[in-house]
Amino acid sequence: MNLFTLLDQAAARFGDRGAVFHGRRQVCTWSELRERALRLAASIRQSVPAGARIAIASENRPEIVELMFAIWAAECVVVPVNFKLHVREMLQILDDAGAALVFTSAKIGAALAPATEMPVEVVTGASYQNRFTTAPSDPPDTDPAALAWLFYTSGTTGRSKGAMLSHRNLIAMTVAHLADFDAADQNCSLVHGAPMSHGSGLYIAPYVLRGARQVVPESGAFEPEEFLDLCDHHPGCATFLAPTMVQRLVQTGRPRPRQLRTIVYGGGPMYVDSLKRALAAFGPIFTQLYGQGEAPMTITGLRQADHLGADDVVLGSVGYARSGVDVAVRRPDGTLAEIGEIGEIVCRGDVVMAGYWNNPDATAATLHDGWLRTGDMGCFDTRGYLTLRDRSKDVVISGGSNIYPREVEEVLLEHPAVLEACVVGAPDADWGEVVVAFVVGQVEPADLDAHLLQRIARFKRPKRYEFVDELPKNSYGKILKRELRDRLADQLT
Ligand code: AMP
Repeated sequence: MNLFTLLDQAAARFGDRGAVFHGRRQVCTWSELRERALRLAASIRQSVPAGARIAIASENRPEIVELMFAIWAAECVVVPVNFKLHVREMLQILDDAGAALVFTSAKIGAALAPATEMPVEVVTGASYQNRFTTAPSDPPDTDPAALAWLFYTSGTTGRSKGAMLSHRNLIAMTVAHLADFDAADQNCSLVHGAPMSHGSGLYIAPYVLRGARQVVPESGAFEPEEFLDLCDHHPGCATFLAPTMVQRLVQTGRPRPRQLRTIVYGGGPMYVDSLKRALAAFGPIFTQLYGQGEAPMTITGLRQADHLGADDVVLGSVGYARSGVDVAVRRPDGTLAEIGEIGEIVCRGDVVMAGYWNNPDATAATLHDGWLRTGDMGCFDTRGYLTLRDRSKDVVISGGSNIYPREVEEVLLEHPAVLEACVVGAPDADWGEVVVAFVVGQVEPADLDAHLLQRIARFKRPKRYEFVDELPKNSYGKILKRELRDRLADQLT
C-alpha cells in the first residue's frame, strides 16, 4: 500500500469538491489534485529512479500537497526541509539524504540554488508548470515497508539525522489520528498553521483520506489574525499548532472562530497555566499529542474530553498510549520502572521508524527489539497518565522548534574570543523555553549574534548571554549544566 491510495480514495468519493485552498481561494478539486499528482509523478520519474530522495524546502505553500502525493506516486521519498534553517544547514540535510532534486519556493530557491550543484526547481516557475504536460503515470502498487518520508531531526552531535518513515508508519499514524483525535469528514478542513515540513505536513494524510480541505494561509507562515480569519471562513477547521502558537492565538483576545473545532497541540511542553488560559478563551477544543519524528505524532495523547474537568496532574501530563502503540518506562538496566518512578520512555508499534538514514550506529542506539528509545524521561501515575520529567537528550524546545545545545555551543566556540561556552534552556512564559548561553571570554553580545547568524538558523540564536569567569565542572571536567539551569531558575525567583 502506498500513501497515494488515500488521495485515490478521496478523488473517487469527493471528485469535484474543493481539495486545496490558498487562503480563501480554491486551488483545485480532488480529481484535479489526483491528476496533477500523477502527471507530476510521471515527469519526476523521467529523470530519477524509484527510491530517489526528493526534497521540498519552502514556506507553507499549496503545491506542497500535490508534490507529496506525486513523490509517493513516483515511489520516491519525500525529504521535507524546515524553511527556517540556514542554507548551510539545509545543504547538510540535502547531502545526507543524497537528494536527487529539490523543489523550493522562489525565496528559498534564490538562496539555495547558488550554493549547490543539485537541481533546484522553483514551484512557481515555468519548468514546474511544464511538468503538467506529461501524461499521467498509473497509480502505484508499493510495498508498505518502502520509505515514504525522511524526517530530519537535529542530532545531539549537531548533525541532523533522517528518521526513515515508511508508508506503513504514516498509515498507522493516520489511523490512530482518525481513531483517537479527530474523525474528520468531507465537511472539515485542515488549516496549516505550523510548518508543513513537520507536524502539519504529516497531518495531510488523515485529512486527505477523509476528503477534508487542505487550507494553506497566503502568508506561508503563522500569522494569528490571518489564521483566525481562515477558521471563520472554512468549514469544520482542525489544526496542529506548537504550544507557542496556541498562546499567540489566545493573546489576540479574539473569541473562538465559529468553525474552529479542534486544535491539536504538542511537539513541546505546554505549561498548565497556558493550557488553562487557552481552554478559557476557546473552550474544550484542545487535544494534546506527544510524539517525535521517530514515531510521528503518535506516542501518547489527551483527547478533548480528557481536558474537561481535569486536574493539574492530568493537564500537566502527556496523556496515555495512542491506539496501536505500546508505551513503557524503563530503568537504565532495561527493566520496567514502577508507577511513579522516572525512567526512559520507550514505545513500539507500526508508527515506529525503520531507523536513521545511513546511520547504523544511531539506529542501534535508538531501536532495541522493535522498541524505540525516545530519549525522554518520565513516569506513569496510578491512573495511567504519563508525565514527562526531563529529556535525556538535553534538547531545548523554544516555540515548538528543537534546538540542540551542542550545535549552538560548537558554533559559539568557533568565535576566536570565546574560550568556553555552555548552552541551556531557561523556562519562558511566551516561548516555553529560551536559549541562554553561558560564555567565558571578552566579547560583545552583538558580535556573537552576527557570528551565529552567518552560521546557523536565527531561531537557534541565544536570547541571552551570561558572561562568566568560569563554568562549573565536576571532577571529570564535565560541565554541570544542572547548576547553570539552577542559577537561571534562581534569577527568576
Ligand atoms: P521532534 O522529533 O522534533 O518532533 O521532537 C520530539 C520531542 O519533542 C519529544 O521527544 C519530546 O521531548 C518533545 N515533545 C513532543 N511532544 C511533547 C508534548 N506533548 N509535551 C512535551 N514535550 C513534547
